Amino acid sequence: MNAGIATQPRDARRVHVRGIVQGVGFRPFVFRIAHLHGVHGWVLNGERGVEIHVEGSTAQIERFLRAVVEQAPPAANIVSCESSATAFEGFDDFTIRASEKTDRPTVRVSPDLPLCSDCERELFDPSDRRFGYPYINCTNCGPRYSIIRSLPYDRPNTTMAGWTLCAPCEREYHDPANRRFHAQPVACAACGPTYVLRTAAGHIDGDVALQTAVSMLRGGAILAIKGLGGYHLACDAAQPQAVRNVRERKYRKERPFALMARDLDAAKRIVELPPAAEALLFSIARPIVLLPARVAFDGVAPHNREFGVMLPYTPLQSLLFAHGAPEILVMTSANRSNEPIAYEDDDARDRLTGIADAFLTGEREIARRVDDSVARVTAYGTSILRHARGYAPRAVATLPTQRPMLCVGADLKNAVTVVVDGQAFVSQHIGDLDHFPVVESFKTAIRDLCEMYELNADELTVVHDAHPEYVSTAYALSLPGERIAVQHHRAHVASVLAEREAFDLNVAGVAFDGTGYGDDGTIWGGEFFTGSLRTGFRRVMSLRPAALPGGDAAARFPVQAAAGFLAQLDDLPDLMQPPFAFPDRYGKAMKLVEHNVRTFTTTSMGRLFDTVAALLGFTREITFEGQAAMWLEHIAWQGTGGRMYAFPVTGEQLDFRPLLRSVIDDRVAGEDPSDIARAFHVALADTIVAACEVIGPLPVVASGGVFQNALLIELLYERLGTRMSVNAKVPANDGGISLGQAAIAACKTPA
Ligand code: ZN
Ligand code: ZN
Ligand code: FE
Repeated sequence: MNAGIATQPRDARRVHVRGIVQGVGFRPFVFRIAHLHGVHGWVLNGERGVEIHVEGSTAQIERFLRAVVEQAPPAANIVSCESSATAFEGFDDFTIRASEKTDRPTVRVSPDLPLCSDCERELFDPSDRRFGYPYINCTNCGPRYSIIRSLPYDRPNTTMAGWTLCAPCEREYHDPANRRFHAQPVACAACGPTYVLRTAAGHIDGDVALQTAVSMLRGGAILAIKGLGGYHLACDAAQPQAVRNVRERKYRKERPFALMARDLDAAKRIVELPPAAEALLFSIARPIVLLPARVAFDGVAPHNREFGVMLPYTPLQSLLFAHGAPEILVMTSANRSNEPIAYEDDDARDRLTGIADAFLTGEREIARRVDDSVARVTAYGTSILRHARGYAPRAVATLPTQRPMLCVGADLKNAVTVVVDGQAFVSQHIGDLDHFPVVESFKTAIRDLCEMYELNADELTVVHDAHPEYVSTAYALSLPGERIAVQHHRAHVASVLAEREAFDLNVAGVAFDGTGYGDDGTIWGGEFFTGSLRTGFRRVMSLRPAALPGGDAAARFPVQAAAGFLAQLDDLPDLMQPPFAFPDRYGKAMKLVEHNVRTFTTTSMGRLFDTVAALLGFTREITFEGQAAMWLEHIAWQGTGGRMYAFPVTGEQLDFRPLLRSVIDDRVAGEDPSDIARAFHVALADTIVAACEVIGPLPVVASGGVFQNALLIELLYERLGTRMSVNAKVPANDGGISLGQAAIAACKTPA
């Protein structure tokens, strides 16, 4: 018997694990599994993922490998686990080796993680040594991307470098059996950072700081609270005066505020929460989830049927609620309108003084700005509207190229994508590049990603929008190396196919949005294409062109956009009179159209939404992009169906004239604007289907800001079902453009 064991063949394998496997407790997990299965060797964080050398009997090794894949830690995301035979070296134990730094790092940085249930239990356990400690974390939870200064992910490369571990923390950090084994941000009250409350009266720390913060919130004050990727402004959502104060001080007129609910029960009291949405709310990204409102909170989300709700994800947030903070807090990014979220302490104090009544400031620095993500559940599954904390910087696709690429996206809702070894990493949401501070933050994000992945400017293929006047284009053109321009709406269509890694699939691509530079120099936004990523996309159909008087201003004033479309209709009623009551701006815009002065040509579906919104009562200036379209969707949800409007496909165009005629006639006839708005949505869904029938029996992909419209998506799902695909990992809005650019460039250039 003994001889049998002694002569048992000894096997050795080298294993390479790729995916999100660093900063998620993967090495300690492998260590524990190795001990469990009695195999020897080592594990380490390599530049290309986790490397394992394992020795034992063939059966042991196979059981070990199966366990590695099947029992991986919750935050890990294994993309591949490949093993090959290697020389048997005769190890007599299993160890965790130091990280290796050799080649270009293509490991995936983990996004930030929400407080885990084990840490939450300790946080509220008076006998635990981290009881009430606002920076508690472990290998399964806590900050990652927001504290990493460079790779590989080890404490000296994070914003925790300045805190030396105390003896008990040190023991946990080095104990392979402990949940905090190699947890880089590990700390406790004795050795780690803490929080301070700064009020007009002075500084307060410790538990009193939290108690004071809570009583200020209950009293209606506005607090600036440092979170994972930036500061929030918080106040009690149930106090209209507090909410009004945030709006006034922040110069944010109408855009909805996000809410943080104390727990699931509190969330259920204010929104409808179907199971899929509940799962999304609780998912590891802890995004803001848009959900139908069940109650009214004055001033939180004007003219909106939904609230954006999230659950607490940092220990500090949990502590605030546990200390008695109001159960629903407004939790909005701390900035003035259009500025990027504040994340540095001095900058936050400068910019938020006069907005916040007090600052709850933690000592741990934030390495980079990361907003909260925004998502929603539709018939097509999760749809991401803002790709940021908890999602970025994930590799959303593997593209057929080995060239390093930087794709700079579009100017609105900017996000950038870098491609390293074929993996497309999409950055966090950066913002609108028509504001100087956002441009700075765009450049910082690019520098940051290039440094993190060790990309040199001169070896990069730089991909940008075809718009000659975009700030992002100008930036791309200032870089050395090869440059590729990609047309905006083709990039939208490509973003959906990139997510699915469908490089050869022939599709009918629908790209509807507000604005994008077309091949012919006009403003596109209601486009149909056929083709594939590999063959390219040919434009085959579009919205009937209309005039766009006054250029960019037309996007701010729905009545101005309306003038351009309505100029094509005969026998218009006097729209300056009720029920339309258009302001003077409409008449002036009509003059521009008539004389063809400062008037452009557009096929923008966004402007058609604006036109219908104007006809149904939205005649003022918008205060944020897409507001009129959101308003139109909002009232359409309240409308009843049955009314049918013609929106015919004529030749290669969708003819909006009969549609607008019906809208005007019904409005004059005194029909309910909600019913008219609904009929408009139905007509749009029907015409998309009709256009796709004309184009041919192809799978349909749809992208562009218009497809954030939940009603339109629902109507399309009823008609097209799974024949249609939409974005799931990047936003349908311009936040997804950089991924589409990457896919088109990757398929265009030889590897
Ligand atoms: Zn934890
Ligand atoms: Zn400690
Ligand atoms: Fe767009």
